Amino acid sequence: MTAQAASPRILESFVAGRWTRGAKEGKPLLNAATGEPVALIDASGLDFGAALEWGRSVGGSNLRKYSFHERATMLKALAQALMDHKEEFYAENFLTGATRADGWIDIEGGIGTLFAYSSKGRRELPNAKVLTDGDVEPLSKDNTFSAQHILTPLEGIAVHINAFNFPCWGMLEKIAPSLLAGVPCLVKPASQTAYLTELMVRRILETGVLPYGALQLVSGSAGDMLDHLTGQDVLTFTGSAATGQMLKAHPNVIREAVRFTMEADSLNSAILGTDAAPDTPEFELFVKEVAREMTVKAGQKCTAIRRVMVPRAHVEPVIVALSARLAKTVVGDPAAETTRMGALASLAQREEVRERIADLSKDAEIVAGDPGSVKVASGDAEAGAFLNPVLMHCSKPFDAQSVHDVEAFGPVATVMPYDDVAEAVALAKRGKGSLVCSVFTNDPRVAEDAVLGLASHHGRILIGNRDSAKTSTGHGSPLPGLVHGGPGRAGGGEELGGMRSVKHYMQRTAVQGTPRLLSAVTGRWIGGADAESGSVHPFRKSLEELRIGDQLVTGEREVTLADIEHFANFTGDTFYAHMDEAAAKANPFFDGRVAHGYLIVSFAAGLFVDPAPGPVLANYGVDNLRFLTPVNPGDRLKVRLTAKEINPRINADHGEVRWDCCVTNQADETVAQYDVLTMVAKAWPLVEA
Ligand code: NDP
Repeated sequence: MTAQAASPRILESFVAGRWTRGAKEGKPLLNAATGEPVALIDASGLDFGAALEWGRSVGGSNLRKYSFHERATMLKALAQALMDHKEEFYAENFLTGATRADGWIDIEGGIGTLFAYSSKGRRELPNAKVLTDGDVEPLSKDNTFSAQHILTPLEGIAVHINAFNFPCWGMLEKIAPSLLAGVPCLVKPASQTAYLTELMVRRILETGVLPYGALQLVSGSAGDMLDHLTGQDVLTFTGSAATGQMLKAHPNVIREAVRFTMEADSLNSAILGTDAAPDTPEFELFVKEVAREMTVKAGQKCTAIRRVMVPRAHVEPVIVALSARLAKTVVGDPAAETTRMGALASLAQREEVRERIADLSKDAEIVAGDPGSVKVASGDAEAGAFLNPVLMHCSKPFDAQSVHDVEAFGPVATVMPYDDVAEAVALAKRGKGSLVCSVFTNDPRVAEDAVLGLASHHGRILIGNRDSAKTSTGHGSPLPGLVHGGPGRAGGGEELGGMRSVKHYMQRTAVQGTPRLLSAVTGRWIGGADAESGSVHPFRKSLEELRIGDQLVTGEREVTLADIEHFANFTGDTFYAHMDEAAAKANPFFDGRVAHGYLIVSFAAGLFVDPAPGPVLANYGVDNLRFLTPVNPGDRLKVRLTAKEINPRINADHGEVRWDCCVTNQADETVAQYDVLTMVAKAWPLVEA
């Protein structure tokens, strides 16, 4: 059954703390598959300056009261709440022309991004309000003057202007990193599909999970919004290159040096490797992937494959195989279960795609599909914005311009021949910078030549082959942990990429000073800062009692030759440097037999551990382990263990403690340096659940 709205809904904006209608009646938004009105949209009369200022002053200050872990926990609560409403979103998704499978990418893919940022945020960021960036830079010989880069949230607002093709994911993939960073958001979805974004924002705000002012929505045009941006704000944009360039060159964006990131048209490509002949698994995978990328979301995806590079000898078999696959694509009513490809976003968008196909026809011929006459299995071929997939062939791609320049934002791709890998790379680069390129090959040489040739012009490269056929996430899926964005024509932006994108909403500041004061600023103990060696062993302290800088300095332990031989025979590590005096002496780094590095680490643990049951629950690893001075038989080891970072976990009765561990010899030379990572109870004795 076709899903349709009973009567047009009047969309509202949520600005400065209330839902507000535009001053005018509004522009009708039509169901992409039936042409029936779905909603009316208008944002005229809104005070954008006041909205941005409200976001900064109310939302920003509320968000910054929380730690990264607290904000990450909010994202998870939001994701869980949105999942409960997913069927409501799927119902409206059909109105955009998208099938349920298309909607899964937008709706559950978007919600999954919230889950991913929540979990990565809690794993990769400290439970703190400030981030340290990189190592301490020592600036004096006596350790009285050092520097540390820190990251703190910008005090502005993130304005996210989105495209029509992903009304949910487009918003969620941008608000997740902004909110995690501590920066409030104002979302402006593309008008065409804004009703679905509006519904999702209503559900988000109803949860009450986000601090007041953290999220605003503008349904309708942006008006004079950009005039009110400041240097503390961030502007992100997804859409056409023409609009993106206009926003980037906006006088106020330039004057205020507003951080701007753009993701625009991208002529992504897929390359069939020279080794991937028609009888190979890679050939079949390639054909499947190209057909899928052309038809998912009716080709209205920023990552969709537009250019298909094929070894000259395999052009004909690729066209035959692709045409056969595309002919089987059932086009029609997006809500029908048998439909594989729904409608484009609007009739205007279909006209736009037809015009772009006409542009491409200057350099390429249509080999499958007819843009002029539409065949649908269900629905109304004329009232709905349907279009059958169109495959084109450009026989002389080096002489052609349009195939590397014109983005037909629909189910359209062009096959082109190449003679060697260098040519395929050169053709891909004619796109002047793309979001993603796929290379289908099982040959390591082809993979190396192609990837190293392509990398400078792409934000992501997927290597497809038989081994990853079942596990590959595919050409078209931006993943929360991987960079999404590309250089040049793709906009030059960088979204997602895990915690990289969170840092786009923060200011990096180099702080110079004496270690004691730097440590106070960052909440992280650094060498040279104050340390407290009390009568209580730090392993006897729960998180409630432990403080940054609590330190234990152990007594000495001598390392004997018998210890080294015992360790070697016990572990099986009889490497010559530990067992053969002459061979060890001949080694340029040693002056005779040396202790195993792991023996030093084990002896260090023996020196610093407090053995009785206590608040330290587990040792889960070490970071940055370095052996700096060889240890010979007769050397005496000593350990200085200092609480460096304390991260109480939210919703758990324990947290992580990072200890600075410095092992020295009798001459006070550092022989080993590392961080010991432990789980420590918040209170001791443990409270029975
Ligand atoms: P637009 O560039 O027209 O619009 C993108 C966003 O910008 C929308 O939210 C739009 O709002 C907004 N916008 C437009 N003008 C202004 C302005 N002056 N100030 C502030 N915001 C503005 O792209 P469309 O969504 O209409 O898509 C057009 C073409 O863009 C597609 O056919 C396709 O070629 C390309 N495109 C590329 C994408 C990609 O990721 N590579 C994604 C989507 C589109 P409103 O809708 O209210 O006008």
